[in-house]
Amino acid sequence: MLRSFIEVSPESHFPIHNLPYGVFRTRAGGTARVGVAIGDYVLDLSVLDRAGHFRNTAVCGKEVFSRDSLDAFMAAGPAAWHEVRQIVQRLLRADEPLLRDNASLRSAALVRQNDVELLLPVRIGDYTDFYASKEHATNVGVMFRGKEQALMPNWTHLPVGYHGRASSVVVSGTDIRRPRGQIKPADSSDPLFAASSQLDFELEMGLFIGPGNPLGTPISIADAESHIFGLVLVNDWSARDIQAWEYQPLGPFLGKNFATSISPWVVPLAALEPFRIEGPPQEPEPLAYLRTTGKTSFDIQLEAYVQGDGMERPERICASNFRYLYWSMAQQIAHHTVGGCNLRPGDLLASGTISGPHRQARGCLLELTWRGTEPLVLKNGELRRWLEDGDRVTITGWCQGDGYRVGFGEVTGRILPALP
Ligand code: CA
Repeated sequence: MLRSFIEVSPESHFPIHNLPYGVFRTRAGGTARVGVAIGDYVLDLSVLDRAGHFRNTAVCGKEVFSRDSLDAFMAAGPAAWHEVRQIVQRLLRADEPLLRDNASLRSAALVRQNDVELLLPVRIGDYTDFYASKEHATNVGVMFRGKEQALMPNWTHLPVGYHGRASSVVVSGTDIRRPRGQIKPADSSDPLFAASSQLDFELEMGLFIGPGNPLGTPISIADAESHIFGLVLVNDWSARDIQAWEYQPLGPFLGKNFATSISPWVVPLAALEPFRIEGPPQEPEPLAYLRTTGKTSFDIQLEAYVQGDGMERPERICASNFRYLYWSMAQQIAHHTVGGCNLRPGDLLASGTISGPHRQARGCLLELTWRGTEPLVLKNGELRRWLEDGDRVTITGWCQGDGYRVGFGEVTGRILPALP
């Protein structure tokens, strides 16, 4: 079994099998740079780079790890990602003395995670949000349109999505200000301007694009996965009352664009390979440009927790799984580009809320409380229809291996009161 000279507990999200990339700076000061999480440590790749450990790779001399984003490394492409991952994994192995027995390199390159600040890992050019969970789309459709027309006719033929807002994507830990906007109460003919009273989270995952494609040249479904650098957890905060009034006919706007949170560690697709599984069966068969076979999904357990001001500890309110997604990541990329749209390094494609077949697997309050009609009863007796000021929402996720976990850490954020 693969083992590191660094002690890593079986519950840790960051064993040698994972090696996710992030951008950090030490709390003591210093510039932002790229690191890899291993157990309770961050391995500083800029130090390894300067020590010559990447000299025979495609990123040699490009200083891709001395930057404040992963974009340059993501642009280098899958062959470079593979070379770097091989080198890092070898250096961390228990039976490899190069780093293990080099005390000065070790002390320069290994920093405790407690001693660093994790930054937004990517300079995100464009953010697209899909709607790829059939259970989520069906539940929302039933609530808004009734059982008979729950899914729109296009839904089983294409991965529905919209172009989101990249400027308000924030890293885990950032507080979220309750938005204000136009809201139209059901019993009023006119809208009013107010703070959202139906603030929600959405449990999602997102992928970051590597090389991307030139304008006018689609990415084929067969090539699509080679453009996935890695995955993060996403919380697509949503103001349901603002969304309900504004969304027709062009879709979400201010109901979504005030904030989207992502986890700081980008887990490479290579680390997820052992957890590949088949996605749900697709009926009707998609058009040829969306057709794939085999294991196009991943077994990633996902949980959401809420902790209110008066609560001693976070309480789990949702347990879902990435495997429930109907449309695969490859299908999302093929569809996004089929008309010629170009994707660029650093683009974020989020999955949409990941709900499953069980009540507990509903990935947002809109579904969990059935639009507020069935409030959650928390263990301390408090009710939750929507998020309240002071509530902290934390989403976590991991793949369970035999004696180890490949995890995503967490994405967390706390609700601040609206501006007066
Ligand atoms: Ca969403």
